[in-house]
Amino acid sequence: MRKIDYVKPKTLAEASAFLVEHDGEARLYAGGTDLLILMRNGFTAPQYIVDIKEIPGLQDISFDEAAGLTIGAAASLNAVAGWPIIREKFGLLAEAAETVGSYQVRNRATIGGNICNASPSADTVPPLLVLGAMAWVFGGGEEKAVPLDAFFTGPGETVLGSGDILTSIQVPFPPAGSTYRYLKLGRVRAADLALVGVAILGFPQASNPSGYGFRIALGAVAPTPIRVPEAEAVVAESVDEEAIEKASLAAMRTAKPISDVRASAGYRSAMVRVLTRRGIKEVLEDLT
Ligand SMILES: Cc1cc2nc3c(=O)[nH]c(=O)nc-3n(C[C@H](O)[C@H](O)[C@H](O)COP(=O)(O)OP(=O)(O)OC[C@H]3O[C@@H](n4cnc5c(N)ncnc54)[C@H](O)[C@@H]3O)c2cc1C
Repeated sequence: MRKIDYVKPKTLAEASAFLVEHDGEARLYAGGTDLLILMRNGFTAPQYIVDIKEIPGLQDISFDEAAGLTIGAAASLNAVAGWPIIREKFGLLAEAAETVGSYQVRNRATIGGNICNASPSADTVPPLLVLGAMAWVFGGGEEKAVPLDAFFTGPGETVLGSGDILTSIQVPFPPAGSTYRYLKLGRVRAADLALVGVAILGFPQASNPSGYGFRIALGAVAPTPIRVPEAEAVVAESVDEEAIEKASLAAMRTAKPISDVRASAGYRSAMVRVLTRRGIKEVLEDLT
């Protein structure tokens, strides 16, 4: 059996420097629920795993009216789903976090790991995209902000470079009167990865001809989770039956799903249309 060294740095600077020094040999380890499976299946074989969970502040969750919500990258998904202000004001994120795996998985799984693993089906990402989240990244001795919609570059790939560590996710306060849906289709009802995930945030917006603003994001149907601006533009104009159908078709056309062992591309495409239509209608019902 290959020997692996477990490293537990005390600060971000220490962790980042270690990653740079052992570039290509060291992997960050948060909950391990993705990493250990990648290692077991032989997709990665790091010499060092670098546990960042205990670095001060990385599990903290805070809220203030101006900055919005800040979630430490190493906060567990159960902590995110259960935090009272997240449930009350950012319910979309709480609901999506709660769909990840099982209670036991969510006790280990972190929000930062869900994002940095960069799976197209990561459940927290479509909600964070429609909420306009910002990723804070530590690297090269400083922290910088990266809008989440510029964070992913492909399946399993992000803008993070050598020594970069996601430290927190900042989520602005949703527009007044917002309501939402996260519709996740899996092969079974419980503890399954999304075949399709659709996150919709809707809110009154007097400047739009329809009177409403919609933000729509899709998971598991493109190389990365994506926003669908074409669909959003249609329902900014009108929310009659025809417009909702047109928006659902636009979402379907934007999606670029693949066929794999879990579902065919054709089925995924069809389900994008169905779930987008259903989600818009349900959000609209809440708004009117
Ligand atoms: C049984 C089971 C069911 C699952 N079901 C779902 C599901 O329904 N939906 C879903 O979305 N996921 C699911 N997952 C996947 C997984 O649980 C989540 O993606 C989880 O949030 C990953 O977080 P983690 O802390 O365990 O990440 P880790 O495994 O520790 O890390 C994942 C990757 O991110 C990197 N990383 C971690 N933290 C950081 C950081 N702060 N900065 C930079 N890089 C970092 C690691 O190096 C690694 O490459 C499931 C997993 C299992 C085992």
